[in-house]
Amino acid sequence: MKTVTADVIVIGAGIAGAAAAWELSGHMNTLLLEQEEQPGYHATGRSAALFSELYGDPLNRALIRSANRFFQQTPEGFADSPILQKAGALFCYSPDEMSLAEQLFAEACKVSKVELWSERQIMSRVPLLKKGLLGKAIWEPGAAAIDVHSLLHGFLKGFRQKGGSLFTDSRVQQITACEAGFVIKTGKGQFQAPRIINAAGAWADQVAVMAGANSLKMVPKRRTVIVVDPPENIDVSDWPFLEVVGKELYFKPDAGQLFVSPEDASPDIPCDAQPEELDVAVAADHIMKYLNLDVRKINNKWAGLRTFAADEVPVVGEDPDIPGFFWLAGLGGYGIQTAQPLAGIMASLVMERPLPVYLEQAYPDLLSSISPRRFHNP
Ligand SMILES: Cc1cc2nc3c(=O)[nH]c(=O)nc-3n(C[C@H](O)[C@H](O)[C@H](O)COP(=O)(O)OP(=O)(O)OC[C@H]3O[C@@H](n4cnc5c(N)ncnc54)[C@H](O)[C@@H]3O)c2cc1C
Repeated sequence: MKTVTADVIVIGAGIAGAAAAWELSGHMNTLLLEQEEQPGYHATGRSAALFSELYGDPLNRALIRSANRFFQQTPEGFADSPILQKAGALFCYSPDEMSLAEQLFAEACKVSKVELWSERQIMSRVPLLKKGLLGKAIWEPGAAAIDVHSLLHGFLKGFRQKGGSLFTDSRVQQITACEAGFVIKTGKGQFQAPRIINAAGAWADQVAVMAGANSLKMVPKRRTVIVVDPPENIDVSDWPFLEVVGKELYFKPDAGQLFVSPEDASPDIPCDAQPEELDVAVAADHIMKYLNLDVRKINNKWAGLRTFAADEVPVVGEDPDIPGFFWLAGLGGYGIQTAQPLAGIMASLVMERPLPVYLEQAYPDLLSSISPRRFHNP
């Protein structure tokens, strides 16, 4: 069997692997291996595509702010239209949570441009809401819908233009250490490189174990989405993203329909995630609780896996036990927003270059906070 060699092999063509391959190609001979026929088939192709500087913990928020630089100024020819479509986001609280909303608003003011809205203001943007259920909302006008398809394919196109090669339908089945690094066996052929990037999403632990590394006991968590029609003659296209915080509901417009999630997070195994009937029913029930809407038909439904390390912080860096084996995993519920800065960090580590200053300054102790070493017990 012929062995294809490279300087670095990225495993997994979701948003993380595509961004890493894009960052590395042009500097190193880079290959990207994907088990499915199409890149982006798993978590990346199933997300809510929200860009919000208020989403997540302080570290993920810092990464999201760094990503905004990239989204605002994608390189020439990266995509045909802007990656972000500004629609705004409303993070809503019930009438008995007014003081909580005010407290969180004060914190949100430190990280993004926000306003504290009354129920009247919320209803002016989403008139179908039932009265009396929401008290206040944090309005983030800069929140946006990410064009995930353009982002993913911008990375892949740039990667190929810089000489990289993508192999689909190529599931990594075995990784063996050799003098020159690693030999990787897939269903379609054999590959060899001194460095591997593990961007296998929900399968990251499995790939790590194949390479002889310890599992980091990451947990894929299933999240469900349903798509339903709004009432007849109601145009929802200019609605913002709306989350009823802590009440298992967010929704947003989606090509004239409503994209609804019950924000479930059920631990699962790495797989082609499918929606459970109960979660679909909960999603329909929760949207009908908050909107004057009768869900008669589910137009579409799916589930995807958001994969987390134990501390819910991404895992990026060289494995402490396996030199040349780098993690780019555990992007959790924020990976569409954070993949580019994380891939930039990964590329600096692989090429043994200092971090770009804007990443260096993004968050205190960024490198050690995301390193797989934090789980290492010597
Ligand atoms: C319902 C839902 C809503 C979300 N909403 C948002 C949001 O609003 N904003 C946001 O930023 N993020 C959101 N996310 C999270 C985001 O989708 C993920 O963080 C991101 O897609 C993770 O990307 P990834 O490349 O790590 O994983 P994946 O996209 O899963 O890619 C991993 C790839 O590795 C491949 N692979 C695995 N094992 C092998 C192997 N052995 N050989 C070869 N290839 C392999 C897989 O086939 C897969 O293509 C959401 C996720 C879900 C499910």
